[in-house]
Amino acid sequence: APVASVDADLRRRAAAVIPGGMYGHQAAKHLWPGAPQFIASGEGAVVRDVDGREYIDLLCSYGPIVLGHRHPEVEAAAREQAMLGDCFNLPGPRMVELAERLTGIVDYADWAMFQKNGTDATTLALTVARAHTGRKGVLMATGAYHGAAPWCTPIPLGTTPGARADLYNYRYNDIASVEAALAACGDDLAAIIVSPFRHDAGLPQELVEPEFARYLRALCDEKGAMLVLDEVRCGMRLGFGSSWAGIGVAPDLSAWSKALGNGHPIAALMGIDVLRPAIEKIFTTGSFWFSSVAMAASLATLDVMAREGSVARMHTLGQVLWDGLLAQAAKYGVDCSLTGHVTMPYLCFPGESDWAKTDVFAAACAKAGVFTHPRHNWFISAALSDAQMAQILEATGEGFAAVAAIGD
Ligand code: PMP
Repeated sequence: APVASVDADLRRRAAAVIPGGMYGHQAAKHLWPGAPQFIASGEGAVVRDVDGREYIDLLCSYGPIVLGHRHPEVEAAAREQAMLGDCFNLPGPRMVELAERLTGIVDYADWAMFQKNGTDATTLALTVARAHTGRKGVLMATGAYHGAAPWCTPIPLGTTPGARADLYNYRYNDIASVEAALAACGDDLAAIIVSPFRHDAGLPQELVEPEFARYLRALCDEKGAMLVLDEVRCGMRLGFGSSWAGIGVAPDLSAWSKALGNGHPIAALMGIDVLRPAIEKIFTTGSFWFSSVAMAASLATLDVMAREGSVARMHTLGQVLWDGLLAQAAKYGVDCSLTGHVTMPYLCFPGESDWAKTDVFAAACAKAGVFTHPRHNWFISAALSDAQMAQILEATGEGFAAVAAIGD
């Protein structure tokens, strides 16, 4: 008799009614060979696939989950709001409360506007910067991911060259390349968009060099252009507030999403007072941008994070994982590269171009009950217990053993 697999059945049905069987970053083809395509449930640091296999979650839904799945306090706040209603003719009080809360947490921000996805916020940031400056040019880092809109999708098929006509590329942390991009842009500079550190998919990550961040700030000041920080992935993980607060560089605009609502759909654009008149002249909105449930969830998420010091907990857990991974790589004699921030590490095996080792590593972790990603940075959540961290390190040990076994 055939082995019953709910996942296989869902895949078969999806192939009939969903293009490609699945699309976007959550298509299972991006994961390890044999990975599931569907998850049935999650609680705390654990997710369960549709066939009942459990994994300790080191991917955290690609960033949104900071406090663990179905965090009781966040879900209670969302339920309480849902009892009153979510989507009305007009916004509710939660919107004002959340804008007050966020501008209190993000020190340079004078105002906040809400959307649903990170792409909404990064795209609106450029619209606001262009409306304010009356210029078109935007400098962005080669290979940086700012979303899937026509101006920034990594695969431009189906978009027009016009969508990127006023974009100029620089290399992250490379001042000379910014100068070259600026020369190409001329007097037309509206904004420079940059992420808190370099986290391009499938490549080793790179923390920002403080002098690079300060140079971008000074350049924008000199040219009257807007510095836009894309906090969508890093926000509320590197710090509770601006990811660049520690290096003393404040942007003019910042785009946020993922961690803000612990899985509830919310994004935010935050910025400085001088931009208000331009924002009053543009038109931007969305049917679900004013919905209250995600805002209530976000308020609760931020309350729990502030009260419990979740960022510090994620830093501690991330450091344990980081140190453990490096010790295991040394023990097994495997050449491994670990880059980025401890709360969002990226692991790869230098010199390999076919992902064979990363696939073997991730598959071994999955077999040992840990959900990682072979080609994307992982994410720590504050829900991980010390015992679960020990289980994770047992699994990654299996991963390194499997990689050592295939040799070079
Ligand atoms: N910017 C960054 C840095 C991101 O990591 C992402 C999502 N991975 C986005 C923007 C786009 O966010 P979304 O997928 O929610 O539109």
